[in-house]
Amino acid sequence: MASTLEINGLITVGALADSLRIPPAQLIGELFKNGMMVTVNEKIDFDTAQIIVSELGMDIELTQRQAEAPTVKKDRKTDDVNAKVRPPVVAVMGHVDHGKTSLLDAIRGANVVKGEAGGITQHISAYQVEKNGRQITLLDTPGHEAFAALREHGARLTDLVVIVVAADDGIKPQTLEAIRFARKAGVKMLVAANKIDKEGANLDRLKQQLSENDLMPEEWGGQTVVLPVSAKTGKGVPELLDMILLIADVEDLKAVHEGPAEGLVIESHMETGRGPVAEALVETGTLKAGDFIVAGGVYGKVRNLDGTNGKPLKTAGPSTPVVISGLKALPEFGDIFTVYPNEKAARLAASTAASSRGSAGKLDMSGTDLLRIISQENQQTQLNIIVKADVQGSLTSVIDSLKTLETKEVSVKIVGSGVGNITENDMHLAATTNAILYGFHVDLPSGVKQLIAREKVAVRLYKVIYELIDDVRAELTTLLSPEIIEKDLGRMLVKGIFKITKNDIICGGEVTKGKLVVPSLVKVFRGNEEIAEIEATLLKRGPVETSEVQTGEMCGVSLKTKTRVDMQEGDRLEFFTREALARSL
Ligand code: GDP
Repeated sequence: MASTLEINGLITVGALADSLRIPPAQLIGELFKNGMMVTVNEKIDFDTAQIIVSELGMDIELTQRQAEAPTVKKDRKTDDVNAKVRPPVVAVMGHVDHGKTSLLDAIRGANVVKGEAGGITQHISAYQVEKNGRQITLLDTPGHEAFAALREHGARLTDLVVIVVAADDGIKPQTLEAIRFARKAGVKMLVAANKIDKEGANLDRLKQQLSENDLMPEEWGGQTVVLPVSAKTGKGVPELLDMILLIADVEDLKAVHEGPAEGLVIESHMETGRGPVAEALVETGTLKAGDFIVAGGVYGKVRNLDGTNGKPLKTAGPSTPVVISGLKALPEFGDIFTVYPNEKAARLAASTAASSRGSAGKLDMSGTDLLRIISQENQQTQLNIIVKADVQGSLTSVIDSLKTLETKEVSVKIVGSGVGNITENDMHLAATTNAILYGFHVDLPSGVKQLIAREKVAVRLYKVIYELIDDVRAELTTLLSPEIIEKDLGRMLVKGIFKITKNDIICGGEVTKGKLVVPSLVKVFRGNEEIAEIEATLLKRGPVETSEVQTGEMCGVSLKTKTRVDMQEGDRLEFFTREALARSL
């Protein structure tokens, strides 16, 4: 009987290997084969773990511990007698162009910087607004489907998801995807029926569609709140905020405000002059400038504590999004941060965390191990690439999107990835692994640029995710073997042989089917057996050269062959053409 293993949402590669009692390198290798470039201390989700375990052929059944997303701590502390009300954390999700950005702008009451690359919000971030003297924390979730992975994480961080649906367009695939994410994360949903100012807006149709997707509107006897809004005119926005606060009250969202803070890293990137910068959401306790924190295997002293509006904060309580500088390295998206009483304790905790996670050794991406793993036999043709991105969130999104391009025949192998500008090491790795180096929102410093010619590396920089993805798709397409199409032309029964040499045959006969043309290819059949494949170069009707002959006609044909074919009377010639068609993904 299969043994069972319970997984709590995300699990590090090291911990999963431990539980499966296999060396981490074996697990990493398997993940590689599935297009995932991971280190031992990286986390993979339940679905990935399940796929890998089944591919390893292990008789272990994975079960998912319910509703234990990273927000679990927040919920657990709700029972604490010292817990006090905290602001709700809200994410806005929905189909592209249904007005998420506009609605967030309307809520913020200010226009965000226009003209982001590709018109897509590239990074997850968060901010707070005030309504009736109370705070609401909004996650600025990305809008394009390529960012699905981030959106899923976004749903985990939140208490409430506002599903934005354009009332003139109705429910679309990404609306359903957002609903699925929210359901999966066990998060409350509220529907904002946007663009209600537009002529084609049809609330009833939208409610009908919602009811068909298990979201029965309140006014139809269900539990789903549907609020008509217009991000353009601002109509309904105050009511939306009131409703968010009402739901927060009903949900009784609380946290302990006193004591050392704990929370989640929601973004990290390098900043010139500031070093590693992390955006985080405080979940419990109060964070202060000068606190010593540990996030994953990284520690540091909070040098600057800012709000996400850039203003310095003295302290930050539960549900506050903050920007922290002072960490020694970049923490990862989804890492939990914790405050320690002093630097020594923080350093110790970080090194323990790093070494226990990395006890099996960090993967040396440029080492021979990597090459060995990559070159393991694989039926697919693979495209090796390296991805560098400005922040962890974009990197995750790019990598997740690339995985969707894979087919049975071609795969993307991410032989290296990281946050930050393209470095010399990246160039060397690209050269040794024959990889294309993609940069997303990063630069190619001029010193490194000089290596392009020497290392013969293809470096491509992009600012729009789907353009990058399209480029990789085009590269993959070139790896696809072309589709071979054979078209039958006609058949001929050989009735006389006029000449046979090693490379030439001239014979005559009757067209029994179809139409013969030249140049074309010919399969020679004797009985049911195909004995050769040769080329037809010339046709004659009587003494006259012709371009085609029809069924019932007698003709002569000149054939070219590479090896001698002893054609005989009674052989059947099948004329055909063969084309190689380039395929697309
Ligand atoms: P997102 O992709 O979901 O973030 O959508 P955007 O906020 O970028 O909005 C897409 C388009 O719809 C833009 O041209 C907006 O100006 C327009 N739009 C958004 N909300 C409204 C609304 O309430 N009414 C009208 N008439 N247009 C809107």
